[in-house]
Amino acid sequence: MPEGDTVWNTARVLEKALTGEVLTGSDFRVPRLATTDLTGWTVAESASRGKHLLLRLTRDGRPPHTLHSHLRMDGAWRAYAPRERWTGRPAHLIRVVLRTARSVAVGYHLHEVTLIPTAEEDRLVGHLGPDLLGADWDPAEAVRRIAAKPSATIAEALLDQRNLAGVGNLYKAETLFLRGLWPWTPVARVTDLTGTVELAQKLVAANRGRWTQTTTGSLRKGETNYVYGRRAQPCRRCATAIRKAEQDERVTYWCPRCQPEP
Ligand SMILES: [Zn+2]
Repeated sequence: MPEGDTVWNTARVLEKALTGEVLTGSDFRVPRLATTDLTGWTVAESASRGKHLLLRLTRDGRPPHTLHSHLRMDGAWRAYAPRERWTGRPAHLIRVVLRTARSVAVGYHLHEVTLIPTAEEDRLVGHLGPDLLGADWDPAEAVRRIAAKPSATIAEALLDQRNLAGVGNLYKAETLFLRGLWPWTPVARVTDLTGTVELAQKLVAANRGRWTQTTTGSLRKGETNYVYGRRAQPCRRCATAIRKAEQDERVTYWCPRCQPEP
């Protein structure tokens, strides 16, 4: 599930493959950018902001530009050696190919692929709340934004990227379990919002640098989460069957005993 940590890891993959390199070719398989050619541009920086990827490009005599992409539920970037086979995903899912002398970056099933002047990045990411994995992570600001909408459910508030950027469905469910919060609890009734956002940040940050997302500390298959993806399985703490339900067009998982309705 691409959440803040996955996007952060992906930015590192692109950084390693592309930064400091001049692009020797590009291929955009999205209609809006079909005629765009980035040959001759240098990749200056690969960054993430919440769940958004920002590849910053420079070229003499031109204003710096940013290639933006979003992974949503199913997107991915892979880096390959120049002659290596692209084994990541089926070819029809390829949206972007960027080539340098020493590597090829292939973007699969990317969303919101956009090329804009770097000076205008705020148009795409300016609305985001504090980035869980940013150098400027600010829990007090995240709490202030969440508290401004007291009638929202705590699950909704954690997923709202305008409050804090980087929590997706998995970390939402796991954070609420560990805090003993029923997912439909209104923000106004959550007594420790600071502890809640700080825990979410800790869970996401702990998974930087690896692709297995664990909240239990175990990396073994089937043991990585407390409630996410565990419908009808016994709670790891109290053995009650984990429940699953729709909530705001997403699914949520919770333990009815450890996370009682207030
Ligand atoms: Zn339980």
